[in-house]
Amino acid sequence: MPSSALVIGGGIAGIQAALDIADAGFHVFLVEKEPSIGGRMSQLDKTFPTLDCSACILTPKMVDVSRHPDIELLTYSEVIDVKRNGSSFRAIVRKKPRYVDITKCTGCGSCAEACRLRGRIADTFNAGMGKRAAIYVPFPQAVPLKYTVDPTKCVFVTRGVCGKTQVCKEACKAEAIDFSQKEELVEVEAAAIVAATGFDPFNAALKPELGYGVYPNVITSLQFERLSSASGPTAGKILLNGKEPEEIAFVQCVGSRDETTGNLYCSRVCCMVTAKHAHLAKEKIHHAKVTVFYADVRAFGKGFEEFYDRVRAEGVRYQRGYVSEIYQRGDKLVVRAEDTLIGKPTETSADMVVLGIGLVPRPETNQVAGLLGLENSSDGFLAEAHPKMRPVDTAVDGVYLAGCVQGPKDIPDTVAHAKAAAAATIVRLRQQTTDHRLQRTDVRVLTT
Ligand code: SF4
Ligand code: SF4
Repeated sequence: MPSSALVIGGGIAGIQAALDIADAGFHVFLVEKEPSIGGRMSQLDKTFPTLDCSACILTPKMVDVSRHPDIELLTYSEVIDVKRNGSSFRAIVRKKPRYVDITKCTGCGSCAEACRLRGRIADTFNAGMGKRAAIYVPFPQAVPLKYTVDPTKCVFVTRGVCGKTQVCKEACKAEAIDFSQKEELVEVEAAAIVAATGFDPFNAALKPELGYGVYPNVITSLQFERLSSASGPTAGKILLNGKEPEEIAFVQCVGSRDETTGNLYCSRVCCMVTAKHAHLAKEKIHHAKVTVFYADVRAFGKGFEEFYDRVRAEGVRYQRGYVSEIYQRGDKLVVRAEDTLIGKPTETSADMVVLGIGLVPRPETNQVAGLLGLENSSDGFLAEAHPKMRPVDTAVDGVYLAGCVQGPKDIPDTVAHAKAAAAATIVRLRQQTTDHRLQRTDVRVLTT
């Protein structure tokens, strides 16, 4: 019987679950489809309500994963098949070619400096704000800090030719670039599986009345996060086209609690993400006029209500109402809303509108469900065995859920859920690998 666990997904949920299982003395295969672990949390600037720097609390855990002797990290890899093998599982993992030998790559970045497409590829880590090369590392704290050739953009991979020579290869003193790499299939055996594949941000273009993709100064909360981040495309300055906005409007519940998109659920984080962004906007542009359009404010967590009070005391105006339309008038945007407290339409001008987008299941969620024999909840996330008593178990014995794959969560709830999934996994591994009815040594009868 293997004493290993397979964790699918290397965001904060998968990282936490892997660390806890490995710390209990079991081997963990941690599979992440992107070139680095870190997930969505690595894109965040500050975290609410304490305003801790996200990278400062995430990076040490990422490093712990990379150094843990019992964690085998399989990045840029995907689980493509899972079969039951008695009471354990056999999984096939596809390791995609990076076209970079990670045993040689030093992470120096000379290849990206030299790449012919440098500064021409939309940077997905920066939510499309900013450009990168066709060979890249997603962010400076990436784990592993190894470069990867983007196979959808590199002209040598897509067309077989890149000018006269591949200048990235010439620039690499370590001779790490290897375009002959092929995908590899690896079989792993595990007694338990933790699904931790996370969420995707809602696609704001599905709400065309809000002007996303039409007006460049209508951006998403994820893009605002990257603008606000010191490691982002504007080095932490809130700028659009090089200018600071003087009037900023935030719109909550975009793609959540919304019959038009079919997402009837509350995404649980957007109220506080918006409050955090409104605070950061006031902090960075003191004179800015900041308005938040909200349907309800759900400040339910520890310290959340106090943070919401603080933000309003800083001068952020909260206006109750549904935003029906965003359009341009002159050089300003106009946010048209129904003020549900007074029952009248309102118009508010803005230089920048930030859409508080919700959390939706990733497309991979259904693939994972299919591989593992799991079911979806009505909201499209994966179903737990019981919403109250078995929140990390699934209908499949030995398969557990961690984090937002089960439904939207903030970071503390994600970490708690992941720790619960790790505990359930450890119980199973312990039951399968040892005689858990050990002789008790903690109680001795001293008299008869
Ligand atoms: Fe890695 Fe070579 Fe690129 Fe340096 S130049 S980051 S060693 S692939
Ligand atoms: Fe960039 Fe050309 Fe190297 Fe591809 S082969 S990474 S396009 S320099």
